[in-house]
Amino acid sequence: MKIALVGNQNSGKTTLFNLLTGANQKVGNWPGVTIERKSGIIKGTTFEVVDLPGIYSLSPYTSEEEVSRKYVFEEKPDLIINIIDATSIERSLYLTTQLLELDTRVVIALNMTDMLMTKGLKIDAAKLSSALQTSVVEISALKRTGIEQLIALIAQDAVLENPHQLIYQKEVESEIALISEHIETTHTRFVAVKLLENDKMFLAMRPIEVKDAITRIEATYHLDVEQVIASQRYDFIMQVKKQAVTAIPVKKSMTDKLDKIFLNRYLALPIFAVIMFLVYFLSVGIVGASTITLIQNGVAWFSSWVSGGLVSLDASPWAVSLVAHGVIGGVGAILNFIPQLMMLFLCISLLETTGYMSRIAFFLDRVFKKFGLSGKSLIPFIVGSGCSVPGVMTTRTIEDPSERQISVLLTPFIPCSAKLPIIALFAGFFFPDSSGFVSFSLYLFAVVIILLLALFLSKFVLKSKNSVFISELPEYKLPSLRYVTRDVWDKTWSFVKRAGTIILVSSIIVWFLASFTWTMQYVHDSPEVNHSMLGTIGSLLAWIFVPMLGGTYSWGAAVSALQGLIAKENVVSSMTVISGVSSGSTSNIFASGGLFGFFTPVTAYAFMVFNLFSAPCFGAIAAMNKEFGSVKKTIYAILLQTGLAWVLASLIGGIGTLIINGLS
Ligand code: GDP
Ligand code: MG
Repeated sequence: MKIALVGNQNSGKTTLFNLLTGANQKVGNWPGVTIERKSGIIKGTTFEVVDLPGIYSLSPYTSEEEVSRKYVFEEKPDLIINIIDATSIERSLYLTTQLLELDTRVVIALNMTDMLMTKGLKIDAAKLSSALQTSVVEISALKRTGIEQLIALIAQDAVLENPHQLIYQKEVESEIALISEHIETTHTRFVAVKLLENDKMFLAMRPIEVKDAITRIEATYHLDVEQVIASQRYDFIMQVKKQAVTAIPVKKSMTDKLDKIFLNRYLALPIFAVIMFLVYFLSVGIVGASTITLIQNGVAWFSSWVSGGLVSLDASPWAVSLVAHGVIGGVGAILNFIPQLMMLFLCISLLETTGYMSRIAFFLDRVFKKFGLSGKSLIPFIVGSGCSVPGVMTTRTIEDPSERQISVLLTPFIPCSAKLPIIALFAGFFFPDSSGFVSFSLYLFAVVIILLLALFLSKFVLKSKNSVFISELPEYKLPSLRYVTRDVWDKTWSFVKRAGTIILVSSIIVWFLASFTWTMQYVHDSPEVNHSMLGTIGSLLAWIFVPMLGGTYSWGAAVSALQGLIAKENVVSSMTVISGVSSGSTSNIFASGGLFGFFTPVTAYAFMVFNLFSAPCFGAIAAMNKEFGSVKKTIYAILLQTGLAWVLASLIGGIGTLIINGLS
């Protein structure tokens, strides 16, 4: 038996399909059309079920409609499951009335019944069934209720034949009857109605009687025949609705109660700020502080164990250094931050799956509008706190082109997970007692800059109209453990993979460039390293960083920041590798007298700011370029980001250092 799943978009077809078929589903392409359809076998049966594209009617106006119609007429399913959204029955039943004109049997899966209570609706399924004269099963694809009943009904072959109820007024029904007598086809009633509607699909079988029938109908109603049919359909639907649906007073739901606090006009923003502070406090502050020394010692121990082994094997000093400083130092520097990142991912994931993030996005829509953005631009920012690349890609949902471009430009400012190691490293070392607060301050800094820049750009440069942000707000719910574990695991794993690939290769290259001169002489101590290839390249660039580093000319900082273009974690691993090569130890890269011993809390903060706002990594730049669709715009954006980063960092580092020097 072949079963077609037909319904409006977002009525829950795919959710039901997955429930019915379990893991058995295969995705295929409907021949000749690009729209995907899926087919699978209903669990415990031999029935094939097909998930068709979402449609609102069986007219041939959209390609989705065409695909679904073709399927019904050419593949001849034995049964149609018409899945309808119980919370908007009026809209859903329009399609249903058309399906009920076919000869194929139709069972109605009344979905989303779990939502009825909160929407203040009550549907009497028995009355609905008798009004439509077909089988109705109440289900919730999400909560997995009613699915067995649906399967049982199908398996017992108990779905009623289509009644072909006379739903139109008698003037129209008599014309349908007349045309039906003159056509020879299956789905007679459906085709007769479609012929009246001048549907092009059936022109070939059009009997001459149709023309007069249309004239008579239009004369009776003084309306276009399509309008007549549509409005009588609606009359029937309203009648069905009146019999089956009753409104009930809505009880204040948990969501409403929580919104009273979380989305309170005055409290929402402070609460959001406190939550984000807690996120950083927990991940960088608490988890960071308690794990970093442990892991650092572990990595240092491992490194000395391996180099000890290599030395005892008579390996040459450069080979020992490559392994100890290049490979273990570089990659290890990044692995240090895994516990903090996992905590960050966990927090963000919890905020997402409980529904809080979407609700705050909805609330911030109003705030963001004042700055030329909308709640829609918050989504890229939230996604961007994991990684800018998908963050930039989600700007596609923003309709207004100016707002979209502003969001593409600003999304990389949000501290992504690769920037966290930089922040955690500097904040942990220079602000040991307030590392959580300092990390949060950078987040806040980013938000302030984003808003100010958005305001400026939307007022003077790009002139955005606000996008409309209509979001179906999910209810607050308890987090799904499965989703959270998966999400944290996926993100952590992709971070680890980067450490083992991009970061590993970059670290080895940095090690090589820092350990050899242009004439391939091996160098490995502090003053000599300055003459390495990396040292000479860095010296050419170091002047750029002099203001933000409070007057220090540091080639090491310059090349490390440059490495951030490949991946932001590289800033940390490069510094570790360079410091390992120059001092022989990767464990404390800020040791006084070392290559990075000059950093003060102020210049550390400035350096973090620079890395936060400057051009993102190549991956994100490529994503920006894709979304801008213009190399020129991408270059402007990078220049703007990097220029802004330089100005801000130089102001903080330069003026800060002057003040502190003046005070002491
Ligand atoms: P499709 O476009 O018809 O394939 O619809 P989907 O299966 O993609 O579902 C659309 C949205 O409705 C998703 O967010 C589902 O989680 C949600 N959804 C589906 N079934 C139910 C249900 O029974 N109850 C509720 N509350 N949500 C549902
Ligand atoms: Mg779908």
